Amino acid sequence: MNLERKLSQAYSYLGGIPGRELAKALKSDEGLSVSYQPQVSAADSHVIAVEALVRWSHPSVGPVSPRVFIPLAEETGLITQITDFVLKDACALSRRHPDLKVAVNLSPMQFNCPVLIERLTWIVNECGANPSQIEFEITENLPLGGNGSARETIASLRDAGFRIALDDYGVGYSGLKRLNHIGVDKLKIDQSFIRDLAHATSMQPYKTIEEMIDLGRRMNLTVTAEGVETEAQRDFLSWAGCDILQGYLFARPMPVQELEAFLSRQPCDAVAA
Ligand code: C2E
Ligand code: MG
Ligand code: MG
Repeated sequence: MNLERKLSQAYSYLGGIPGRELAKALKSDEGLSVSYQPQVSAADSHVIAVEALVRWSHPSVGPVSPRVFIPLAEETGLITQITDFVLKDACALSRRHPDLKVAVNLSPMQFNCPVLIERLTWIVNECGANPSQIEFEITENLPLGGNGSARETIASLRDAGFRIALDDYGVGYSGLKRLNHIGVDKLKIDQSFIRDLAHATSMQPYKTIEEMIDLGRRMNLTVTAEGVETEAQRDFLSWAGCDILQGYLFARPMPVQELEAFLSRQPCDAVAA
């Protein structure tokens, strides 16, 4: 079933009141939680970072995919509260694991908020976390222009010590010029490119990924691949020079207690990425 059909089904399933339900969940923190998915070094499979992914379990519907409720949260403005909720959780985790980077997703519309930087830095300071451990993931199609442009916001976030990763990279294919203009620390190659490897009938999908990795390396960016599900994909991506890998092959997103048990089974916690 394609995403659009899933979305329209979910809207009707939720009885047309998802915004209110989500607001209620946010007020009481009921049903909302954060899962973490490890990101491992391509060189030795050690966990060096995790991505925080919000989860919402509706009292009668059960778990609702973020691909369904994040667009709703964006429409209703509740995304700000969701980000705050996720960031606080991520900060607490980062404090317990000083060598671990924790990635938090930001929605493009949050860049319209004139106090975004103040809000994010305030939360991180309040939680006593180190900004250098927090990485904000932004999507490639983020509009860069406008008043108090997103580009300036990204630059200020980096000045405040945060790292910025460009998520779902390759879908809108930003060339060298745009990447230089945005100014990021990391590229995350979109999982559709990794998936294409599984049923490649020519060398093209491999070449496309190699080009993306080359571009990232020429710009001194850390390159991550997400959606790695098979050993063949892992072997190719490591060979091609990808730095970090994320996907079901290594671990699925999991609640924080499970993550901490997972981390404790690592020979050593982490090395900075
Ligand atoms: P994303 O930021 O690109 O996150 C990666 C998604 O890929 C996650 O889906 C993760 O569970 C999934 N994934 C990871 N490895 C694999 C794999 O090997 N195979 C497959 N098939 N999938 C894999 P999830 O958690 O359902 O999140 C979907 C999207 O929802 C995220 O994509 C992100 O755009 C958004 N999202 C999730 N949490 C947040 C959040 O806290 N804030 C915001 N603004 N967006 C969020
Ligand atoms: Mg992400
Ligand atoms: Mg992504």
